[in-house]
Amino acid sequence: MRPFSYVSAPDVATAVHAISTEPNAKFLGGGTNLVDLMREHIERPDTIIDITRLPLTEIEELPGGGVRIGALVRNSRLAADLLIRTRYPLLSRAILTGASAQLRNMATVGGNLLQRTRCLYFYDGAAACNKREPGSGCDALGGFNRNHAILGASDSCIAVHPSDMCVALAALDAVVEVESVRGIRRIPLVEFHRLPGDAPHVETALATDELITAVELPASSVAANSRYRKVRDRASYAFALVSVAAALEVQDGTVTAVRLALGGVAAKPWRAHEAERVLLGAPATEESFRRAAAAELAPAVGLPQNTFKIELAQRAIVATLRQLLTDGSAA
Ligand code: SF4
Repeated sequence: MRPFSYVSAPDVATAVHAISTEPNAKFLGGGTNLVDLMREHIERPDTIIDITRLPLTEIEELPGGGVRIGALVRNSRLAADLLIRTRYPLLSRAILTGASAQLRNMATVGGNLLQRTRCLYFYDGAAACNKREPGSGCDALGGFNRNHAILGASDSCIAVHPSDMCVALAALDAVVEVESVRGIRRIPLVEFHRLPGDAPHVETALATDELITAVELPASSVAANSRYRKVRDRASYAFALVSVAAALEVQDGTVTAVRLALGGVAAKPWRAHEAERVLLGAPATEESFRRAAAAELAPAVGLPQNTFKIELAQRAIVATLRQLLTDGSAA
């Protein structure tokens, strides 16, 4: 690991001031991804700003029924929180499908938002990778691409975002609060992560001097009937081939509210707007679910090793909605 300077920040103002004066600095929260990346010389910060003592560890109910989650809340605590488990069960379930218990105990909400792709070539210093070294090429295009993107990819990068938690947040219309010396701004989760285009190394809307301070969830009655389904190569500690975060409300046999997002298919958590459009006001039937899934995946493009994900994603959407229909009827 390269030598670096270490600064411990006692409060948010000190943290954002420190990063404003040191362009090649990184915040250290749980460190579950950053430290690995530093060991592999992929991240090479000159300064580490330790933010683990900042007062960003609360889960608070907001007036109106939403919830504010501090950026340093550990993933395991968020998944276990009673408010989250009852009002947003898909978020709790998504987190519990990710990583291992030990990693969830360390990883923070803010860090989860910023975790980087698990593309094998990104971690291989001998491979061409536009995300790691802009302009160097992309060895995944002609290489092992079974886990890669089927939506929103480009000729520069076909990596997928690895988070489960963020897929649930995308379905829940979460908003990310960030702070810098210029002040506070709020970024909708669906606009926080970027598709690769011709600059895959720019992964988020976060400026280099901004700190994630919180994630807010709006009140949502539909979220009470929600699920997260993750399809992966083995039962635990594996990233999603495809995942579905969904919430469904049905009245008199008609879909009256629906939220749907996909993971494992794109460089960002993929909010399934087209499927939602097809479903809203439609009969809550298997046929409607299939039509919605087909509409969402219509623009998908398969690679030699991952075309199966197009069908898999559609089946996962239909199966999740079918389960929610059963759950909702039983409630
Ligand atoms: Fe790098 Fe993206 Fe290509 Fe993977 S898919 S090698 S992360 S440019």
